[in-house]
Amino acid sequence: MMIEHLLKTAVRDIVDFPKPGIIFKDITPILKDPSLCDAILDAFMIRLQDLSIDVVAGIESRGFLFGLMLANKLGVPFVPIRKQGKLPAQTIQQSYALEYGYATMEIHADAFEPGSRVLIHDDLLATGGTVAAASELVKKLKGTIAGYCFIISLDFLNGKEQLLPYSEQLISLIG
Ligand code: AMP
Repeated sequence: MMIEHLLKTAVRDIVDFPKPGIIFKDITPILKDPSLCDAILDAFMIRLQDLSIDVVAGIESRGFLFGLMLANKLGVPFVPIRKQGKLPAQTIQQSYALEYGYATMEIHADAFEPGSRVLIHDDLLATGGTVAAASELVKKLKGTIAGYCFIISLDFLNGKEQLLPYSEQLISLIG
């Protein structure tokens, strides 16, 4: 597939970042290539066309980049899901386990209407912990998870297993 090849060439592996043993998938080279950004959006649009999306929720911070562009292209609102203490208006929270300790994600309490079909987007799916917490936030606001889309999924970490209870619609452009 053309887009897969272009993406695999563009995404940069940074060894031992942010700590030893992690291979960090750096998407910043994609952002320097407007035609590749367009190709990513087109690939998402084709794969999302039957999902009836009302809202795109993007996860801090790299989920904001394509999340907003995708929402614009779909003609629907974009809402940010952020780390604790960043969103200015009234929020609801969801904590989740990290390797050591806990983290908390937030969404604005008025982010979308109950019953909205929400697409959750992030640049990369790893263990799925972050996106599962985002899914709980969407459910707390009585949204339906229309699906998930990622540029990259690290399949060996089995993040998909965490997301299947919420939605079986999981799109990723490269594994
Ligand atoms: P997780 O909760 O384990 O699925 O982690 C997902 C979040 O961490 C996403 O927001 C990713 O951007 C980031 N992340 C985790 N692992 C990597 C990696 N190897 N390369 C780049 N980003 C990563």
